[in-house]
Amino acid sequence: MSLWLSGIGVSRGIAIARVQKLHGGDLEIAEYAVTPEELDREVERFRDAQNQALAQLHEVRSRIPPGTPGDIAAFIDTHLLMLDDRSLVDATVGHIRTLGINAEAALRRSRDALVAVFEQMEDPYLRTRRDDVEHVVSRVQRVLTKSERALPDAGLTEPCVIVSDDITPADIILLSQQSMLAIVTEYGGPLSHTAILARSLGIPAVVGLHNARKLLRENETVIVDGEHGHVLADPDAKALDHYRRKQDQQAEDRRLLQSLRDKPALSRDGVGVRLQANIELPEDAQEAEANGAAGVGLYRTEFLYMNRKGLPTEEEQYEAYSRVVSAVKGPITIRTLDLGADKQVDSGQRHGPTPNNPALGLRAIRLCLKEPELFRVQMRALLRASAHGQVRIMLPMISSLAELRQARTLISACRTELAREGRKVADHIPVGAMIEVPAAAIAAPLLAREVDFFSIGTNDLIQYTLAIDRVDDEVNYLYDPLHPAVLRLIRMTIEAGHAAGIEVGMCGEMAGDVRYTRLLLGLGLTEFSMHPANVLEVKRAVRESEVGDLRAKVDRVFAATGMDEFERELQALKP
Ligand code: PEP
Ligand code: MG
Repeated sequence: MSLWLSGIGVSRGIAIARVQKLHGGDLEIAEYAVTPEELDREVERFRDAQNQALAQLHEVRSRIPPGTPGDIAAFIDTHLLMLDDRSLVDATVGHIRTLGINAEAALRRSRDALVAVFEQMEDPYLRTRRDDVEHVVSRVQRVLTKSERALPDAGLTEPCVIVSDDITPADIILLSQQSMLAIVTEYGGPLSHTAILARSLGIPAVVGLHNARKLLRENETVIVDGEHGHVLADPDAKALDHYRRKQDQQAEDRRLLQSLRDKPALSRDGVGVRLQANIELPEDAQEAEANGAAGVGLYRTEFLYMNRKGLPTEEEQYEAYSRVVSAVKGPITIRTLDLGADKQVDSGQRHGPTPNNPALGLRAIRLCLKEPELFRVQMRALLRASAHGQVRIMLPMISSLAELRQARTLISACRTELAREGRKVADHIPVGAMIEVPAAAIAAPLLAREVDFFSIGTNDLIQYTLAIDRVDDEVNYLYDPLHPAVLRLIRMTIEAGHAAGIEVGMCGEMAGDVRYTRLLLGLGLTEFSMHPANVLEVKRAVRESEVGDLRAKVDRVFAATGMDEFERELQALKP
């Protein structure tokens, strides 16, 4: 009999195949006393296990095919760093020696302490580090307890759907090189590394499907719908037929989208739109190019500072920025560091105690202005890289004119320094502000006079406008890009920017969500920056739109006096 199960769809696509379960996810760890004479041997046992785990990960890393998106190798690099990290290794050795306990139990204690720290964190990227700790520790535990996870490794020859409690980035890489067609896991959310990796590799995935291993039987046929988060076990002929047709349609759709790659992003009534990519690592520039992005609208440079020991030097940053600038055709907007508060880097110093409200604390431009040396090193690297292409500098979290002016003064000082040293810097480098704090949107007419462009960061703008922590699952249901207050702030920003004659773009998630493309076009937005995978779909929506018609319709959305009318007018925007 067929069985419908629902989880969270995190990577689109449909797969039909038999279930292969990954066994042995949960390890039983016992704690027992070790005599003082055996402590050295116990420490050695732990170190051996750590080295074996490192060797396993190096092996996985060497198997990543060239041309794979950069974030995939980065996940393995993070694990390699963590496995060698003093907070894990020294703490475990310390527990063995001071408590006189076995290596497994000592490691579990270090894990618990690290997980507790990561769970406090507000930032989505850092919160997912909790998963990294779990994955890294469980790899070492498996070596220690000699209970290697039952990966169907070389035996995986038939196309299959992997069903598991959780799955590590290393396992995903190994299995994707065999015949895994989809992933179903019991844990994880849309920001988990499983989700991010599955999207990067184009593997349909459903996560957070509790009890999946109990409910699904080994070898039974399932349909996985990674868009809607459905898993249908033991489907009947009608369901199989329906989903096979959907699969064919999706394949045809992908082909049609690909054919748009070199076509202009021009609306039916001739409005030209610039569709750019958001990137996080220099390697992502390739994916942007492959999807026909017209440059990079957001390069999140903080990724250069994370997953590593110490801060990147000016030379390292210069090398990374130059590589991206040379690889990208068209302008590239480099955002200055968006670190701070909880987003600590391993610089050997903490920037004060962890505050209660990190999102409202010392982050982004606030941190850079408080620590001008941090900003200076990045700025020098960035200005030097400007000699190789069309660089624009973007300042995150601007909330006042004073911040903008201070940042511009520091940029000018770096420019003067470099000129004195005889280094090449582009003559004109546009400097823009991210509009992601309501205060900036409200003061947009004032800010617009002192910047070259605006870029609306809806991820934070929505968080701060609606007072919703963007990573708190409990209030996720309130996170609404269509809230009238959010739409008004977006409109104010676009209008203020255009009135001052500067460019206005958007680089938050809203810009890459095709459900909002028509609304944003109707608001007068002509620059969108998004995950490279969304560029072609948004391009299709642009090419099928009449901007003049949408403008009139959006005016009616804003004129609506009640929520019913507002909803009706929003519906009227649909094609
Ligand atoms: C945003 O806030 O919309 C944005 C693009 O920046 P981030 O998601 O990196 O905070
Ligand atoms: Mg932001």
